[in-house]
Formats: sequence, structure tokens, C-alpha cells
Amino acid sequence: MSETNETHPSLAPGLYIVATPIGNLEDITLRALRVLRGVDRIACEDTRQTRKLLDRYGIFTPVISSHEHNEADRSRELLEQLRHGARIAVVTDAGTPGISDPGMILVAAAIEAGVAVCAIPGPSAVLAALVASGLDTERFFFAGFLPPRRGARRTALEELAASFARPTTLVLYEAPHRILDTLEDIQAVWGGDCHVALARELTKIHEEYLRGRVREVREEIQVRNLRGEMVLMIEARPPADAANHRPGNVRQRLAELESSEGLTEKDALKRLARERGVAKSELWRELQREKARGR
Ligand code: SAM
Repeated sequence: MSETNETHPSLAPGLYIVATPIGNLEDITLRALRVLRGVDRIACEDTRQTRKLLDRYGIFTPVISSHEHNEADRSRELLEQLRHGARIAVVTDAGTPGISDPGMILVAAAIEAGVAVCAIPGPSAVLAALVASGLDTERFFFAGFLPPRRGARRTALEELAASFARPTTLVLYEAPHRILDTLEDIQAVWGGDCHVALARELTKIHEEYLRGRVREVREEIQVRNLRGEMVLMIEARPPADAANHRPGNVRQRLAELESSEGLTEKDALKRLARERGVAKSELWRELQREKARGR
């Protein structure tokens, strides 16, 4: 495959991992178009979605569906064809295959079978979002989608925080209906002053960035009903550093409020939730975690 370059019209046999636009259909490389024209077939996450791109560029290569539910079976079938010298491209609905998208199983199987695998680089939301975020791009960690359930997501964030020895830009994909909950978790882990950037609808008409401290970005999102695709980036500090920016532990602060102002635990919780800009239920869960840890 290394012999194939722009002066060679025909493609070598093998598997081509082709990045496609994340919104704006102009974001496709000349090489990607040549590969999509030249392969024997294109394995797509959703053939209807890919057809829009192929139609725009007058590409008539046969397509076949390969998505997260049939990737294992489809991979066996495609591998058989690759072993017999086929040229196959893999694309997903948007961006780079294998990045929070199908592709990994087929790539691993192809390598195992000694089939040549070639990446055709292009758009991916993670890099597009990061480079215009204003946060540190020297050191970043991409964690894809966090678990959708609250407890598991919070644990995942705490584990990530504990794994950073130096300040690191954490990059996440997130669904719009969970963004507020996730920001609340981020505030609980890194404190309200932690800097974040939210990139929304990149390369599309309503593209925008929300940049600032997590508490400010939360306030802005609370008053706007934000939809669309989102990448969330966080200036994630190591735990010792973060602790300096995070208000003290919940149990201790509740005890202070109860003794100094004669509040009941319930009222102290309400007051602390206001102080920290988080939900009462969130503080309650944190209190239970602290008790379990014996703090
Ligand atoms: N493979 C893709 C890539 O390389 O970026 C990612 C696929 S993943 C299933 C889809 C997620 O990527 C979305 O939920 C969103 O978090 C992010 N994303 C994709 N396109 C985006 C865009 N135009 N603007 C912001 N985020 C985007």
C-alpha cells in the first residue's frame, strides 16, 4: 500500500479507514474522494447517510452496512474478501472510524490476518474541538463518551482526575440532554472555577464555543436549551491541585452550618447546595460517599 500515492491511479488491495465530514460536506480530502471512488466497496455505518456524501461527489462505489450491531459478523465477511485481494473502505456517519464509532474490530482482524490497513486522515470532532478551545493542546486525554448513568459517570470522572499527574485537557463527547448533569459532576470533582470549553455543532451553521469557568458555562446552558452535537473539554487538574480549588468536604461544612447557625441537616444541605451551585441530591450523594470513605 505504501506504493500508492497521488500519481498512482489504482489502489492497492487492503482496508482503507476513511475520515468523512462531521457536518460540512466540503471537509473531505482529495485522497479520501479518490479512495472512495477506487475501492471495490465501502462499508458504512448507515448507507443512507454515506449516500448523501457519495452523491454530492458523484461516487458510485457499492456500499454495504457495517454498524455496531453487526460489526463482528460483517467483519468476518469483509475479511474473507480482503484475504482474496479486495480493496475495502470503512466510513462512519461522521468523522474518523474507530473514534467512538465502529471500525476497531475490523482493523484488528485485518492486521491479525496480515491484510494491509491504511488510514486516510481527515475530520474528527475531538481534534477540531480541541484546537479552537483555548485550552492546553500540549497534553490532552480523550475519554470519548462517559457512562450515561450518574453514579458511574461520577466515578469515571473521579478515576480520570486521580490518573492525571499534571494538568491535562480532558476531552469528552456528550449528548445534549446530559450536558448539564455532566457539568455538575465536573464542578463537584474540579470545583466551580475549573475552566471548560464546550464546542457545539462544529463545521455546521450553528457552530459555537462556550468558554469559561464551569459554573459560568452551566449558568449559560441553564437559560438556553442547547441542542446538537457537543464536545466538552475540561482543564483537569491532578487531585492535590484540584482539592485546593474545590470547596471543603460536605460533611465538615454541614457540621459547621449546623453548629454555627443552628440549621437542621436538611436546611444545611439546602444552604450548601446554594453556596456551591449544585443540586441537593448531588450533595447528598457526595455525603454518602464521604461517609463510606470514613471522612
Ligand atoms: N467518529 C466521530 C469522530 O471522529 O469525531 C465521532 C462519532 S461519535 C458517535 C459522535 C459524537 O461526536 C457526537 O455525539 C459529538 O459528541 C461528537 N461530534 C460529532 N460531530 C460533531 C460536531 N459537528 N460538533 C460537535 N461534536 C461533534
